[in-house]
Amino acid sequence: MWTLEEKRKYHRDWARRHRQTPEYKAYSEEYHNRPEVKAKKLAQWRGWYERHPERKREWCKEWAKNNPLKIKFSTHKQYVKRHSIYKIGNADISKLFDGWDGLCGLCKRPVEGDYHIDHIIPLSRGGLHNQNNLQITHPRCNCRKNNRLENECLFSW
Ligand SMILES: [Zn+2]
Repeated sequence: MWTLEEKRKYHRDWARRHRQTPEYKAYSEEYHNRPEVKAKKLAQWRGWYERHPERKREWCKEWAKNNPLKIKFSTHKQYVKRHSIYKIGNADISKLFDGWDGLCGLCKRPVEGDYHIDHIIPLSRGGLHNQNNLQITHPRCNCRKNNRLENECLFSW
């Protein structure tokens, strides 16, 4: 007969092995993406935060200390979006096409069909959201540029 401790260990090991299988991973991903599960987890976190406000403050401070650039960039991005009076319209897009002779700002080949509007200096690096900082690019070129800068997709439609 197994002792209780041995049984527990067996179950722990089994679960650990089982968690590595693709089926379990797929199931787990699906499970954790369910709206009701997400809401429950969020509520649990909120409850925990309310019970431990000082821990939350500490945790936030710690995170901010470890991610100074994220804080700087995200606030800058939010600021630019919120305070920018410049909204891109169709006239601006045709002006952009004229200004760049219909060429992609990155590879300098003609843009036909699909295009992206790209910030020459990304907003996350302090670029401004105005006509002078915009260029037409191929969607492909724009995404490659983003990869090289290790930036998320900045501005596209
Ligand atoms: Zn291009």
